[in-house]
Amino acid sequence: MAQPGGDPRVHPATGAVEIRRSARRRRTVSAYRNGDRVVVLLPARLAPADEQRWVETMVTRLQQREARVRPGDTELAQRAGELSGRWLPPDSAQPVAVSWTSRQNARWGSCTPADRTIRISDRLRGVPTWVLDYVLIHELVHLSEPAHDERFWSLVRRYPRAERARGFLEGLGFAAEEPAPAGQLDFGQAVARQRSQGRQAPVG
Ligand SMILES: [Zn+2]
Repeated sequence: MAQPGGDPRVHPATGAVEIRRSARRRRTVSAYRNGDRVVVLLPARLAPADEQRWVETMVTRLQQREARVRPGDTELAQRAGELSGRWLPPDSAQPVAVSWTSRQNARWGSCTPADRTIRISDRLRGVPTWVLDYVLIHELVHLSEPAHDERFWSLVRRYPRAERARGFLEGLGFAAEEPAPAGQLDFGQAVARQRSQGRQAPVG
């Protein structure tokens, strides 16, 4: 079970856990989230018998920490309202509900303009706030702009870190194969479409 090296394995609660052993690391054990996996750093000399116990301990601690810092649905909706007020035109469509979902593995966010709901993937827990803000802005703009056209991007780019956040999300190895359910818009697929068409949204 205990193998040194960066072997990812699946943890029942968090998904993939990658264990890295470092020769430079002598006593300290730490863990952080990297995209959709948890990386646990262990000293190279840690006895294999202790590995599983430490992984469990660190994953549990990380989850407790995330539960403290991750906003709930109420805070998420509040945040969306603040972002809209700050970056989007005053007459922008406002969401009726914004919520986290654990059922979106291939998309960071989605929105249903018909009932003005926005869902944000649980996989975004642990990303920097400015990245989460970008996903919220993206979905907020979709409430009134279904297509990823010029008008859409000009609104999204009112948020100054939009391009940087897109780069951050691409770096997480985002897969966009999953089709969106009918009536839903999602931006993962749009990114994939842009790529396949060899077209980039203008940066500015
Ligand atoms: Zn989109």
